[in-house]
Amino acid sequence: MKGHCYLITLLIICLSFSKGKFSADYEVVPLPQEITYLRQSGFILNQFTKITFEKGDSLLERNAHFLRDYIKELAGISLEITHDKQDTNNIALKSSLQNEVNDSYEISISDKQIVINGAGLSGTFYGIQTLRKSMLPGSNGKTVFFPSVKIKDFPRFSYRGMMLDVGRHFFSVSEVKELIDLMALHNMNHFHWHLTEDQGWRVEIEKYPKLTTIGSTRKDTKINHNTGEFEETGKMYGPFFYTKNEIRDVVAYAQKRYIEIIPEIDLPGHMLAAIASYPELGCTGGPYEIAVKRGVYDDVLCIGKEQTFNFVKDVLSEIIELFPYEYVHIGGDECPKVRWKACSHCQQKAKELNLNADKYHSVEDQLQSYFISRIEKFLNSKGKQIIGWDEILEGGLAPNATVMSWRGIEGGIAAAQMKHKVIMSPSQFLYFDYYQSRDVTKEPFTIGNYLPLKKVYDYEPQPNELTDEEKKYIWGIQGNLWTEYIKTRENLQYMMLPRMDALAEIQWTLSENKDYQNFLKRFKKMQYYYDKNGLIYSKSFLDAEILTKPDSDKASLWVEMSTPDNAPLFYTLDGSTPTTKSEKYTGQFRVSQSSELKVLAYRGDGQDNKIQTKVININKATFKSITLKHRPSSRFTFEGENVLIDGILGNTNYTDGTWIGFHGKPLDAVINLGDVKTVSELVTAVYLRLDNRVFGPAEIKIELSLDGESYVEVFSKKYNVSPQGSLIGRSEMKCQFTATDAKYVRIIIRGTDKIPQWHISRGGTPLLFIDEFILN
Ligand SMILES: [Zn+2]
Repeated sequence: MKGHCYLITLLIICLSFSKGKFSADYEVVPLPQEITYLRQSGFILNQFTKITFEKGDSLLERNAHFLRDYIKELAGISLEITHDKQDTNNIALKSSLQNEVNDSYEISISDKQIVINGAGLSGTFYGIQTLRKSMLPGSNGKTVFFPSVKIKDFPRFSYRGMMLDVGRHFFSVSEVKELIDLMALHNMNHFHWHLTEDQGWRVEIEKYPKLTTIGSTRKDTKINHNTGEFEETGKMYGPFFYTKNEIRDVVAYAQKRYIEIIPEIDLPGHMLAAIASYPELGCTGGPYEIAVKRGVYDDVLCIGKEQTFNFVKDVLSEIIELFPYEYVHIGGDECPKVRWKACSHCQQKAKELNLNADKYHSVEDQLQSYFISRIEKFLNSKGKQIIGWDEILEGGLAPNATVMSWRGIEGGIAAAQMKHKVIMSPSQFLYFDYYQSRDVTKEPFTIGNYLPLKKVYDYEPQPNELTDEEKKYIWGIQGNLWTEYIKTRENLQYMMLPRMDALAEIQWTLSENKDYQNFLKRFKKMQYYYDKNGLIYSKSFLDAEILTKPDSDKASLWVEMSTPDNAPLFYTLDGSTPTTKSEKYTGQFRVSQSSELKVLAYRGDGQDNKIQTKVININKATFKSITLKHRPSSRFTFEGENVLIDGILGNTNYTDGTWIGFHGKPLDAVINLGDVKTVSELVTAVYLRLDNRVFGPAEIKIELSLDGESYVEVFSKKYNVSPQGSLIGRSEMKCQFTATDAKYVRIIIRGTDKIPQWHISRGGTPLLFIDEFILN
């Protein structure tokens, strides 16, 4: 870690001085940019220490109260707050640091006092957060020793955000405040509040009372997968919404913690709750039903009617009154155009505007662009700026819009090149509703995908495609919590933590100061805080990494295992449950026959011990050469075709790289066995996750050849389309045929042609995920 100056001998003196006392440690999350230990021992905080601030500065006084509460919580000591001038045994709060970035601060700790000096009040607040976290895990009512230090700190990005979707599932004011507190702990400063959805409208609008009397309810609470199987509870969901007073309360609460709230009214798609309340706002006039399951819905706001614009302006007028900030998020994402195409009002409007399709944009794309620009103009006239999802780039970007890049990083790159401000929140790195584990069987049900802690941590928000000048348009980074499948506070925390810690560090800490192993050590303090406060977090980041590679004899494989915290590993190969009496892992070992590897990471009795399983199958196809006629889907290629013959069966998470996925094209593979072998069976597996458009096969064919030229078909079978309500998970396909000699085996697996009518993505092309080929 560059920028950190450790004077080891002094540190040893400090530590010996602190013997018997609790000693603060400034290596917190997010890591400050510069920590320099000084030639003094340090400051002892005791019950006589006072918190001082400049007389008459009520905002510094407010910061002082936060500090007092934190110290009381961690050290059990309640300090006096005073504006008396004092320069010994005190913590002085100031906001006079000369730095143009308000959020920057310095902490100077001598034998006599601690001084926290922010460039702005927010800087002082972040200095307080660092001091607070340096006291974790807490001193239990004793004195605290602070080694003498100079900390210089500032954020890498000025926008440091978290988003919560309260449309799919509602979270109460106290739950939202709990999230805001966590954001403050992580030096975050923008809370993006996604307030409206197809599944519910969550904010009181006086001019349109039905938005909450009708729009905040839905007839069902179905929340499992979209196979069409409803989890009927017979109970209406809602009414759930925030009154204006509750919103004001949350705004004030966040403001005290230097957090701005970005309200989102998602337009013109994702508006089903609004048009179900006021059907005249849709193209067809309804009736409409508020969505009870996830998806993208065709019924959106009608852009051909002036009434729609009046509605949107009225709603936004009330919104900007509630949120005294510069930015309003107006969505702009996932807006199907089928209704506009068929709507006489919308088509008439396109004619009036003289919109014509061009090479890049349909008439309807341009209608959306017209809508967004008109709303932007309205908000600009009120002194506000808009933020939109990256779809607002389509059909021409509104002149002053800030782009939130979510479908990868491409939208962010394009917007930055157009000199628009960008917030990066690419789904593959920052969507915290994704799985954190390779083993999903014990995880809460999620929308899918795989986003482990390390992947979040390693995300670099300023892409190399941008010049240094363009990189300046990356305003910041945001983690998103979509709640289709998240319905409780505990579930929300589990999905958010510890990925929020990794997010905090990519938002705040300079990339040259980042180090994942070091981060994990520092995270232990946060773990203590979470445990103490009853917060729930995932421990999947402790999972053992099990790596395999073929031996040069191409008949066996090497297994290499590790854990991020170096917990000892014990394993069995016969499928039996490993204990500390099982074989202890001391280094890579070789497996030359099919085995069920079970690994125990042991951290002490009652600790985070976990058993993981890998099924190894060494058969006639293992490690042979394989070629594919068609490439897999670029999103799901991972390490490529060798995954199919690597001797390792896929994990329960089909997106972790142990499976490969095809889209539109069939799997058409030839395995060269090297020698002529007698074969009579192929076992493979597909994954079913119909809500994510992952369907089973339509047909499997196997052909054999001795010369690689002429093939003879030995197996062919057609399959029915996976029915609605199919179980999620691995589905084994066993293909048996007459024993035949072959050197080449051709396997063709054709996926389902079209997504069936009952599915929300009806008519689309499904994905096909394939696991290991086992040839016997
Ligand atoms: Zn219309």
